Amino acid sequence: MITINGSHGEGGGQILRSSLALSLITGKPFCIEGIRGKRKKPGLLRQHLTAVKAAVEIGKAIVSGNAIGSSRLEFTPSGIIPGKYHFAVGTAGSATLVLQTILPALLSAEGESELIMEGGTHNPWAPPFDFLARVFLPIINSMGPTVSATLLKYGFYPAGGGKFSVTIIPSPELQPIDLLERGEVESYKAEAIVSKIPVSIGDRELRVVADKLPVGYGSLVAREVSSPGPGNILQIEVASANVTELFIGFGEKGVKAERVASSTVRLAREYITANVPVGRYLADQLLLPLAIAGGGSFRTLSPSNHTLTNIEVLKHFLDVEVTVSELEKNIYEINITS
Ligand code: AMP
Repeated sequence: MITINGSHGEGGGQILRSSLALSLITGKPFCIEGIRGKRKKPGLLRQHLTAVKAAVEIGKAIVSGNAIGSSRLEFTPSGIIPGKYHFAVGTAGSATLVLQTILPALLSAEGESELIMEGGTHNPWAPPFDFLARVFLPIINSMGPTVSATLLKYGFYPAGGGKFSVTIIPSPELQPIDLLERGEVESYKAEAIVSKIPVSIGDRELRVVADKLPVGYGSLVAREVSSPGPGNILQIEVASANVTELFIGFGEKGVKAERVASSTVRLAREYITANVPVGRYLADQLLLPLAIAGGGSFRTLSPSNHTLTNIEVLKHFLDVEVTVSELEKNIYEINITS
């Protein structure tokens, strides 16, 4: 059985989710110890347990250690069962991270799947729904499958209560892709979304964006949405010839709207200046699909700890070579070969 050290490298939930995803795909059982060992509250939280539950159902798996606070889990899958599923985190825990766990397996399953996911949809420290739908899924679709996601309700931290649906039409194999050139930036779009707080907060964020980025007036949108709790996000979309990227800022009590906007603009600018197609978070998400496809490459910014740890995890399950080369300052190329 493969043994994974959950405290290694970045030491968070990503190690668990990547291991579950890879175990489902390869059919290889694994045991993970020291789960989320580097987090303030180590062990399995509700959100991780939901990811485990989802993987158990989809993989008809035998599992032990699946309890709140558990630091050790054993997982033995016995296939991939596509179909209709409904997974609810039950807290504001990220529902997109639950999807991240099961999506790779369903991309090449023997039938279509329809998923309803409930929990947080726009959480700090997780891929926001819009990143998934507008950035990640189009790339997945270029590899063969057809996946679409629809937001049914926004769920912000800490109240949660969000919901989205996902339809997956699989393809027998994932095709490798190379994302080396970003191409010209074709458009910018900025969206400030609020729930249960004044929309003027969103307007202030957009004023900062308009000051610092060449976003046309018609591409600046502030709107109020319905969600069980208060929330504010600022999303900056950068659409280029070969790829669309999305940067998100989260409004926080005690943090000025202008500051939220400035730091989101900084993220977008860093990406635009580096002239690479793949931002840091996208790099993190692309590793697994590319490794499963058996190859591919992309250029990105300096890799995050999540990315480096993900590389270590996937080598436990798949026979792939991954090289990370620095081409210039803050420009890296990641190559995956099998
Ligand atoms: P962990 O901290 O181990 O639970 O993993 C968090 C996951 O969320 C990683 O896959 C990150 O790449 C992803 N993530 C965090 N923030 C963002 C963001 N703003 N956009 C896209 N993905 C994100």
